Amino acid sequence: MSDLSSGPLATKDRDLVAGVVAGERRALAKAITLVESSRPDHRERAAAVLDALLPHTGKSLRIGLTGVPGVGKSTFVEAFGLHLIAHGLKVAVLAVDPSSSLSGGSILGDKTRMERLTQDTRAFVRPSPSAGALGGVAEKTREALLLCEAAGYDVVIVETVGVGQSETAVAGMTDVFVLLMLPNAGDDLQAIKKGIMELADVVIFNKADLDATATERAALQMRAALGLLHPALPHWRPPVLAASALRGEGIETVWQTLQDFRRTLTESGELAEKRRRQALDWMWQLIDAGLRHRFREHPAVRATLPEVQAAVAGGGTTPTAAAQRLLNLMNRYF
Ligand code: GDP
Repeated sequence: MSDLSSGPLATKDRDLVAGVVAGERRALAKAITLVESSRPDHRERAAAVLDALLPHTGKSLRIGLTGVPGVGKSTFVEAFGLHLIAHGLKVAVLAVDPSSSLSGGSILGDKTRMERLTQDTRAFVRPSPSAGALGGVAEKTREALLLCEAAGYDVVIVETVGVGQSETAVAGMTDVFVLLMLPNAGDDLQAIKKGIMELADVVIFNKADLDATATERAALQMRAALGLLHPALPHWRPPVLAASALRGEGIETVWQTLQDFRRTLTESGELAEKRRRQALDWMWQLIDAGLRHRFREHPAVRATLPEVQAAVAGGGTTPTAAAQRLLNLMNRYF
């Protein structure tokens, strides 16, 4: 039995797949619920559904968006999403919120968030799965992203709150990573410290309406700071923009910039290469997680683990010898 290969598509899931491909929001929501489930039978069905939908994926622009709480992410996503809809595009919004499982609050928990976008039939807004560790949430968001693509959304925005590790996960599943900032120095330092700036393909200073001079100054400083970084992509220098999500200002420039990003990186071949690398990284992450799970569940390992752990903690054996011994227990069954 293998976790990585999927079985045939169950009859009841054929309609689900057809509904997703037809772009039905209810079918998409059901499919996402299925991939979010950790029940083993659901995992199997989800794998088969994803396999069936894979040929329909890959056409969306995948945008990652991050910023500290209060920077205006939801206001921006609503303004940007409505702007795209006005251009005749379909928009999906997914959230990765590792803090929700810790604090009980969710970045999409507030019902008034993105109210107009949520109500628009050309948009699909999905809060983050509430339970589980970051790895689990990221994996499910990745699968949800593929489902949105299969459902024909031209743009998929994966939003994450700026609290550390989740940015790396989101940058690892999207084409372009956008960092929203406030025009004050404290914020800049935060992003620099966390290494988030290195991930950014586009930086936007939001709330430019509050203080145009401070915004300009912050943008200048940011351009200088970005200039010191080693460029992540040979054909792209991250631009620094200003916007007012509240007033809808600067939104069209953001969209032009993102289209420019897609065009430039498609022509240079970097976008295809980035997606290939992301797919392989994802596979390896799943393999690592799967192996760790099998190791911990292995009967011989389970039986021996407490004793070996106690020996390592007590200084009776070296971590190297202990790890070798435990791994060897697993070898016997391969
Ligand atoms: P999030 O926590 O990053 O999702 O931030 P929100 O979108 O909830 O916005 C936080 C607050 O900032 C809200 O009161 C918004 O109305 C306000 N806000 C968002 N964008 C702007 C903007 O461009 N200008 C001004 N003046 N306020 C904004």
